[in-house]
Formats: sequence, structure tokens, C-alpha cells
Amino acid sequence: MGKPTGFMEYERELPADRSPVERVNDWGEFHQHFSESKLQEQGGRCMDCGIPFCHTGTLISGMASGCPINNLIPEWNDLVYRGLWREALERLHKTNNFPEFTGRVCPAPCEGSCVLGITNPPVTIKNLECSIVDRGFAEGWVVPHPPEERTGKKVAVVGSGPAGLSCAAQLNKAGHAVTVYERADRIGGLLMYGIPNMKLDKAIVQRRVDLMAQEGVTFVTNTAVGSDIPAARLQEDFDAVVLCGGATKPRDLPAEGRHLNGIHFAMEFLHANTKSLLDSDHVDGAYISATDKNVIVIGGGDTGTDCVGTSLRHKCKTLTQFEILPQPPLERQPDNPWPEWPKILRVDYGQEEAEARFGADPRIYLIQTERFVGDAHGNVKELHTVEIEWGKNENGAFIPKPLSGTEKVWPADLVLLAMGFLGPEDPVLEQLGVERDPRSNAKAEYGRFQTNVGGVFAAGDIRRGQSLVVWAFNEGRGAAREVDRYLMGSTELP
Ligand SMILES: Cc1cc2nc3c(=O)[nH]c(=O)nc-3n(C[C@H](O)[C@H](O)[C@H](O)COP(=O)(O)OP(=O)(O)OC[C@H]3O[C@@H](n4cnc5c(N)ncnc54)[C@H](O)[C@@H]3O)c2cc1C
Ligand code: SF4
Repeated sequence: MGKPTGFMEYERELPADRSPVERVNDWGEFHQHFSESKLQEQGGRCMDCGIPFCHTGTLISGMASGCPINNLIPEWNDLVYRGLWREALERLHKTNNFPEFTGRVCPAPCEGSCVLGITNPPVTIKNLECSIVDRGFAEGWVVPHPPEERTGKKVAVVGSGPAGLSCAAQLNKAGHAVTVYERADRIGGLLMYGIPNMKLDKAIVQRRVDLMAQEGVTFVTNTAVGSDIPAARLQEDFDAVVLCGGATKPRDLPAEGRHLNGIHFAMEFLHANTKSLLDSDHVDGAYISATDKNVIVIGGGDTGTDCVGTSLRHKCKTLTQFEILPQPPLERQPDNPWPEWPKILRVDYGQEEAEARFGADPRIYLIQTERFVGDAHGNVKELHTVEIEWGKNENGAFIPKPLSGTEKVWPADLVLLAMGFLGPEDPVLEQLGVERDPRSNAKAEYGRFQTNVGGVFAAGDIRRGQSLVVWAFNEGRGAAREVDRYLMGSTELP
């Protein structure tokens, strides 16, 4: 612990984001960096507590408490305070293959369980993580480390999202020859084509992919396993297969008028937008435009926020975001104590930008869409809604109950459905005969990641359902360890 009195001397401080009014005019990242001295002060706020809950990574009430990849947070806080940046980077890379991603997009459950957070604002852990790795790249300290020896074993990884990438990085480190198959034209999964550029610059994703290629990982793009090549071929050609295809089946809204033009799943909108941005700076027009449209985003989570931020950058005419749940409280409630993840109202970047542009938070709570109405050309023009309250049905399950007299009509030219994901797609799992759990995810015990099919493993959203990047890292690394054990009889991977 570098500074025993740091937490009493320094307030929690973060670098200001770019102004919302300015940043909606481009696709550049909105976070900015702090000066070295400010970062050292913030690192000095860490109390190096006896039990650092920040790096425990347990599930409490179904939510992460502490860092799911057990980042050695107090150690690198101390190293930052002492100006030992290279050592801090080494510590960070011990548990996290790609801190430049979590440092940008992780919701930071570590901060929700920081012991200082019981009485004061927590340590700025996520910002310090990002600053350490960005400094490492800027200094040229992050270089390829190919393994010294190869084992002669071959592993196929299906899907190149955070689970597939972390799994591939670890297996390659252990000396196995890893081939990652991706059906999209670029590597990265939702890091590339889900989370928009302003939150995670795609050059940063590509930089890491290039490093992995230099370390010996083979990437095969534009290849959907299960259709472009049969899944069984992977079993023949490789010693083990790891399924990391994500949970990409979107939840639909089967209301009257759903077939109308202008109603899209969020991922159709977000994927096409980033692809067109990267391919041609949007010159090719190969994206769904929100320009001058009345946009309604249905769903209040991360995906919905990304639709809000993207629509604003297209210069939409109006923007509304519907959420079926009630507005969360402003502060922790007694039934949500520390070190649980605080279930409180958050204003994410998209809502902040919408407020700057239109003068109000775009979110409407406790609202349900009853039907879509179109014009003579089959284009959506209105949404009909009703307010709801939550009550129990005869089986005791919570259900939304419409409140009569609260019906409302909203003008809408573009509707984006961001209501979550139902589970993984079927072809690969069916072709391989992988059993499913009751939620339709690939069935594989957490910690072992082995499916019912010999030599076939599953990790990330395909196994646990749509989750977080940091859990995908946890599972990708864990699956790599188990594959290594399966191939070699024992393993030294963490
Ligand atoms: C819009 C959006 C924003 C999000 N924002 C955040 C955030 O800010 N922070 C956060 O922590 N989490 C966020 N999440 C959740 C997070 O992105 C996911 O939990 C995480 O990416 C899951 O990683 P994964 O590797 O399991 O799957 P994915 O990232 O979904 O990657 C799966 C990959 O497999 C490929 N694939 C699937 N089937 C095949 C096949 N048959 N053959 C070849 N390739 C295949 C897919 O094309 C995809 O590239 C967000 C999710 C969405 C949808
Ligand atoms: S990965 Fe997430 S939970 Fe872990 S230290 Fe970084 S911000 Fe915190």
C-alpha cells in the first residue's frame, strides 16, 4: 500500500468525458485520459484492505460482485501510485488477456464491492486498468509473445468474441495450434460489431487481433461453422473444439404490425452501422439510417443505449427509449447491500447525449407496446402503448398488467428492438449433438466447460446466456485451462 492516508486525502476523480454535444458529431471514443499525477493519486486511494472484495468475482443474487477474472487490483493500484507502470501492466496481464477492452466496456462490478465504497466513493479501478494498458501500448511494452515450444495439438475455436479470443490466447500460450473460425468478415464478435466505435474503437480491437496473429493464432473469417463447413469436420481435423458462438438469438416483440418496414432488431442496426463505418466511413450507405427519423428504442439495457448513441450520431429527429421495468432507485436499497452490485439508476453515455440534444433523459419506464401501425406503403408510422404495473398471476409469477386509460400513440419511423437475447443459435449445437440446459444454452458445467460430446467444450454466452465481456473472458480462460488438461493430462494454465 503506497499511501496509507490516500483515501482520506484524495477525492474520487475521473477524467471528464468529451462533451456530449460535441461527441455526437463523430464516432470517436468519448472517454479521455488523466494526467499521470492524477492517476497516481487515484491509485493511492486504494486501502489495500485485508480482504479485497474487489477481486473476488463471486455471484451474489445472480449478479457479479468483484472482478470475475480476479484482477489483482490492490497490487496494480499500489504500483500505479509508485509510478511503476510496466510492473502494473505485467500484473494486469497475469489475469486479463485484454484489459484495453474491459477498461473501456466493463460495468466494473469491482467498484461496486470496493471496501472504500462502504463509506466513500470507490477507487476508480476501471479507469486505472484502462490507463495502465493504454500506457503499455503507448510505450511499446505490449509485444507479441509466441510460445517457445509447440505441443503438436490442434484446437478449433468457433466464434471470435471475447470468449473465443481469450480462449485462443491462452491455448496458444500453452503451445497448441489454434484456429479461430468466425462467420463475420472481421474478428471480435460483439467487441467488433455489437459495442459501437465511440465506446470501443475498432482499431483497438484490431490491434490486439493482429498481435494474436503474430503470436501464431490462425483466424478464418467469413466462415460459418455448421453451414460453410460442417461442424463434424472440426472434430475430424482438430484434437479439441471450443464453442464460443455467443447467445445471438434476439427476443422478438410479436405484436400486431411487427412485419412493417422500419422495425429492426438492434443488432441488425448496430452491426450494419459499424461495418459501413469501417468499410467506407458510411459512404457506401449500407446501413439502416436513423437520420431525420422519429426513433423508438424498445429496451433499456446496454444494447438499447448503444442504439440511442448510434441514432443520435445519425441525427435522428426524435428519440425515445422504452423500458418495461420501473425506474431503479437513486441509491442502494436495504435489500441490495454492499458488496452486491448496486442496482441504482445509471445515466449511460447514450442517455447523457440524448439529454444534451433534446433536453431530457429519453427513457420512459413501465410502458408496453401494444401494436405497430403502418402507412399505405407498409412503413411503420406509429407505436401504440399502454402503461403497466407489475403484479402476480395465479401461479405467483410476476407479470406486467396494463393500466386502462393510459393508452398513447407515438410517431415512429424507426423502431429498434433491444429486448435481450434468448440463447444460442441451433446449427452447430445440433450438428454436434450438444445437449442444452433448460434455457437452451449449451450444457457444460461451469469450471469444466466440457459438453456431453467428447473433446467439445463451450464457453461464454453460448454456455451462460447473454452476459458481460468480463464473464466471457473468465469462461474463455477457464475453457482453455480445461482443454489443455484434456489434451495434455495436466495443465499449468490458471
Ligand atoms: C449491443 C451490445 C452491447 C453490449 N455492451 C456491453 C458492454 O458495454 N459491456 C459488457 O461487458 N458487455 C456488453 N455486452 C455483452 C457482451 O458483449 C457479451 O456478453 C460478450 O460479447 C459475449 O462474448 P462471447 O464471446 O461469448 O460471444 P460474442 O461476442 O457474441 O461472439 C460470438 C461470435 O461467434 C460468431 N459465431 C456464432 N456462430 C458461429 C458459427 N457457427 N461459425 C462461426 N462463427 C460463429 C459470431 O459471429 C460472433 O462473432 C453487449 C452486448 C450487446 C449485444
Ligand atoms: S475487468 Fe471489470 S470487474 Fe475486473 S477490474 Fe476491470 S473493470 Fe473491474
